[in-house]
Amino acid sequence: MAKHTIVLIPGDGIGPEVSGATKRVIEAAGLSVEWVELPAGATAVEQGFETVLPQRTLAAIQAHRVALKGPVTTPIGKGFTSVNVQLRKKLNLYAAVRPSHSLAGVKTRFENVDIIVIRENTEGLYSGLEQEVVPGVVTSLKVATEVACTRIARFAFRFATRHHRKKITVLHKANIMKMSDGLLLTCARRIHEDEYPNIEYEEMIIDAGCMKLVQDPTRFDVLLTENLYGDVVSDLCAGLVGGLGVVPGSNIGDDAAVFEAVHGSAPDIAGKGVANPLALIMSGVMMLDHLHEAALAQKIRRAYEAVLVEGKTLTRDLGGTAGTGEFVEAILSKLR
Ligand code: NAD
Repeated sequence: MAKHTIVLIPGDGIGPEVSGATKRVIEAAGLSVEWVELPAGATAVEQGFETVLPQRTLAAIQAHRVALKGPVTTPIGKGFTSVNVQLRKKLNLYAAVRPSHSLAGVKTRFENVDIIVIRENTEGLYSGLEQEVVPGVVTSLKVATEVACTRIARFAFRFATRHHRKKITVLHKANIMKMSDGLLLTCARRIHEDEYPNIEYEEMIIDAGCMKLVQDPTRFDVLLTENLYGDVVSDLCAGLVGGLGVVPGSNIGDDAAVFEAVHGSAPDIAGKGVANPLALIMSGVMMLDHLHEAALAQKIRRAYEAVLVEGKTLTRDLGGTAGTGEFVEAILSKLR
């Protein structure tokens, strides 16, 4: 097996706990790997770097093309630009892929949910173009470009085709944001008609779409959205299948990919040893598939599925009493 070099960013809050757990599981599965551990987020500043995204960390991801990242804390209202926004823009990680699917052993309101959110990751209201026009009046610019809308639409249809998915639903608010959300619709329709008529296509206004998602999520397959809606809808979908502890994610570009859970740094439970590491472990499994290590990915998937079905060592968010360490040990025992 070829040796892989993977950049590991532990992150802030529960980040070091869940990334340490994921590293152990991936190694126990048998991946031949060299980890290049580098900081980002508040941790980077604490370690003496001048910024939350040190050049060394960025350069390592550019060189090795793949990273596993724990969540980072972004201070609200002031200070540094978000690490995540910077990473996605600087590495051109234009597509976030976030699968939410029902897991045997995780009790939820619905069964057979299997939704993949594909979120445009580089523009929209995340452009960071905010200004004070006059005291007491501020604006925030929502940017949409034909290049980025076409790129994410093509990514979504190609993804759906490769992964044998049947339908793409674009969630939008083009009735109000006629130009920006309208552009995504125009581009998505064009890609559907010209390149991927094999995939069923529908459009839904986001507010009604959210209602339908919580009424019957099983009618949805792949959701395509602009940046902010994708952020919100990802957490909504996580709630349908057991919460943020069980939803992985990836940020994909043409030259690099960064794998991370949908959840944040969870400061309310950081350092208590109770965080569920499964979302990052599942992100690691997505990373193994990306690295063409499908057999190892499947091995880990089988191991955590067995632990969930047994139900003896679930973390608190899934209704159990196990800590992060006990849960990981249970997975490791299945891998041995
Ligand atoms: P959060 O996702 O950190 O937490 C929301 C709730 O879910 C909390 O009650 C938390 O305890 C719980 N939770 C999250 N992950 C969990 C896990 N693995 N196991 C068990 N429970 C879990 O969202 P937040 O509190 O809104 O944000 C906290 C910080 O994280 C903010 O600074 C935010 O900017 C940042 N954030 C970072 C990322 C990222 O780095 N990718 C993503 C989202 C939020």
